[in-house]
Amino acid sequence: MANSKLRVRFAPSPTGQLHLGGARTALFNWLFAKHHNGSFLVRIEDTDTLRSKDKFTEQICQSMKWLGLDWDDELIFQSKRTDLYLAAIQTLLESGQAYRCFASKDELDSYRSKDGSFFYPEIWRNRSENEIQAKLDNKSPFTIRLKTPKEGIVSFSDEIYGSIKVDNSEIDDFIIARSDGRPVYNLVVVVDDHDMEISHIIRGEDHVANTLKQIYIYEALNYSIPIFAHLPMILGADKKRLSKRHGATGVQTYQDLGYTSDVLLNHLALLGWNPGTEQDIFSVDDIIAQFDIKRVQKKSAVFNIQKLNWISAQHIMILPSNSIYNHIKQLNPSWGSNFDTPYVLNVINLLKQRSKTIVDFIDSSHYFFNNPNQFDKKTMRKCWKPDTTTQIIESLLIELNRLSEWNSTSIEGIIKKYAEENKILIGKIIQPTRLAISGVSGGPSLFSIMELLGMKVCISRLNYAINHFPIIESDNNGS
Ligand code: GLU
Repeated sequence: MANSKLRVRFAPSPTGQLHLGGARTALFNWLFAKHHNGSFLVRIEDTDTLRSKDKFTEQICQSMKWLGLDWDDELIFQSKRTDLYLAAIQTLLESGQAYRCFASKDELDSYRSKDGSFFYPEIWRNRSENEIQAKLDNKSPFTIRLKTPKEGIVSFSDEIYGSIKVDNSEIDDFIIARSDGRPVYNLVVVVDDHDMEISHIIRGEDHVANTLKQIYIYEALNYSIPIFAHLPMILGADKKRLSKRHGATGVQTYQDLGYTSDVLLNHLALLGWNPGTEQDIFSVDDIIAQFDIKRVQKKSAVFNIQKLNWISAQHIMILPSNSIYNHIKQLNPSWGSNFDTPYVLNVINLLKQRSKTIVDFIDSSHYFFNNPNQFDKKTMRKCWKPDTTTQIIESLLIELNRLSEWNSTSIEGIIKKYAEENKILIGKIIQPTRLAISGVSGGPSLFSIMELLGMKVCISRLNYAINHFPIIESDNNGS
């Protein structure tokens, strides 16, 4: 049964696609809700009308769905809730907790320090009703500022960072509504989180300064204050805050690169959450069961592509081949489509050990479905000696043709026997044979590849090599 009291939310601004930092915030909220049987809501913070775009809302939702981060209730759009925010501002004005400031930009700029910093000098904090009314009668523009306390401290107990406090004297009477009437982020977020009955606010550590200001607003509006948990920043390998400079940061990109959603979730979960064991590979259900917000560390987390690749390879190793097949088809619906399922599953079985991503299967499987039409030139130069190799492969072909049973053991037996009898290093047979069969120098066991491709295909590819490689080879040398 849902724990109706525990409610968290993810509040993306639709000004770009879902990036890794946002996905990690969404994930931790979702995990917290799932672990405690609470509710997970999504609020689209689209008050910046210039930068907010529907296409980004769609993209964010698509990425969340792909990751499996399902939310409860309908999406909430801030752009549709203006009345709620204006009513809260009105309440603050009426209770004297907020006031209108008619200072012009030039006037305010004159209070700016040389280093550009600014602390509102409270010019309009304590003006008389008459002065204010005169300005209103003149239709003078104004902003609305919160009347913040000037003595004592503001503090909260963060689930991750512990006690955070600051002297009230350090926070000025900040703006809650701009001169065009639009309420600012700190105001709308508090009104929404209260209205949505959010019990825990889990978001990036870069919001700590906002949280302190928001606490004033909670208090001024007489709202109960939720529990806060700020998540450590995510850094790139150079220990700088993760950004586009570090390459791909969008969830969609990782999907296109062939990481499964489980892999990305596994890696994102470890960006800050310390399971307290040596375990690195988790299923989503494992993470939900073990997730504890108190085990999120304060230290910044580093996004490391090598770690992601390692996690991905581990997941692939234990993923059933038919699930891998489904993942491949999502990226490339025509992959393997002319072949029967058992054959395709065998291709996957063979490639599993050496694939780090779903895209690796696609990129390294061409020769299972088509005769190679390109041959690695460097390998050819190294392993195909026109005078000797052609003759070796010709003799091998005779042996292979005689095989009554075509399987990896019998193929391996023939090749080893031939090498021994003719005192040739086995590599001198395997390398050119692999090149002829696959076009490339590496891959799974050659004998297993040959078993799967079948006798007819292998013999035909070896024949092609005998007839064409010396020619290709001399072309290569000439070029
Ligand atoms: N829209 C804000 C952001 O994307 C959300 C902050 C919050 O969770 O309150 O950073």
